[in-house]
Amino acid sequence: MKFSQIVQAYKDKGLPEREALLLIAKVLGKKKEYVIAHFYDECPEEFLESVITLFEKRLTGYPLQYIIGEVEFYGRTFYIEEGVLIPRWETEGLVELSLEYIRKYKLRKVLDIGVGSGVIAITIALECTNDKELSALGVEVFGTDVNEKAIALARKNAMRYSIKCDFRLGEYAEPFKDDWDSIDIIVSNPPYVRKGTQLQKELEFEPQEALFGGEDGLEFYKEFFKRYETSGKIVIMEIGEDQGEKLKALTGGEVLKDLAGKDRYLIVNKRG
Ligand code: SAM
Ligand code: GLN
Repeated sequence: MKFSQIVQAYKDKGLPEREALLLIAKVLGKKKEYVIAHFYDECPEEFLESVITLFEKRLTGYPLQYIIGEVEFYGRTFYIEEGVLIPRWETEGLVELSLEYIRKYKLRKVLDIGVGSGVIAITIALECTNDKELSALGVEVFGTDVNEKAIALARKNAMRYSIKCDFRLGEYAEPFKDDWDSIDIIVSNPPYVRKGTQLQKELEFEPQEALFGGEDGLEFYKEFFKRYETSGKIVIMEIGEDQGEKLKALTGGEVLKDLAGKDRYLIVNKRG
């Protein structure tokens, strides 16, 4: 059977062609471009079963990124694996806002709480290193996560880009308690989905503790602002679309919208 024929058969079952190309490339151990160039070639017999298996797996809702083992974020490719949350496009906005604040206030020490795959922390570190003005600041990036697998993956991603980030296992800012006073900006995309929310099928394959933020989805924020004195610091966090008003009331911060026009970013500026 030709690659084109298998892809067409699965397109009819609802698998997008672009995804099918990436899955074939994964099985062959080649780039997607190879599959494009050889689309009308016969699929070698020994690969056929694996291709079909991956196509079927994907049709169950198992995320493409977990199968491929990679994800795009802020123009770069990062490793991703089951057990760690797949980065979302909204989070690119969180990184952008953080960079704007780092630039504006010449901030030096950045803490990312709940690093997951490390994309926020690593992107900030890389952007700060590559930018002429920002590199002069000597920005240092720290990160924590309660998930051991996430910390290991974040370290692997930092190595992929040869960038120094200090990632430690632990909750909130606890692993960097002794450095708390010197931290200038706290960035986080915490779990914020309300308990009991019905998730789309893809999300069921993701770590639930990375998504659910307790009864009202606000547990992380409440605990963070209760535990830590944030005077003199800037806190930028991603939030759920219906949490803006409550979080403004809780923190006195401001809320910005994402591309879809939904409340998404909480900014608490205690620097004045
Ligand atoms: N920053 C990554 C991203 O944007 O793709 C992952 C975000 S995911 C929504 C939330 C992450 O926070 C998960 O990796 C989870 O393990 C971690 N986490 C949850 N509660 C935490 C806590 N109290 N302290 C540190 N990390 C926490
Ligand atoms: N925006 C994510 C979703 O897909 C939730 C991420 C989070 O809880 N931080 O629902």
